[in-house]
Amino acid sequence: MERAGICPICGSVSKLNTCAICGRLVCNRCYDHSRSVCIQCSPGNILSEMSTERTGLV
Ligand SMILES: [Zn+2]
Ligand SMILES: [Zn+2]
Repeated sequence: MERAGICPICGSVSKLNTCAICGRLVCNRCYDHSRSVCIQCSPGNILSEMSTERTGLV
């Protein structure tokens, strides 16, 4: 399901995705599709200290 609206993170009008953690609707640019969470909930973007699960593969 795709919904359009205003992203609460960047403020742009776009198709929105639901964050699995905070439940907010954020745009594609503010959404981590690999984790199904917004960038504010995605580990590694904000809290780099909690990114130990990352393997370092680029
Ligand atoms: Zn956004
Ligand atoms: Zn979130």
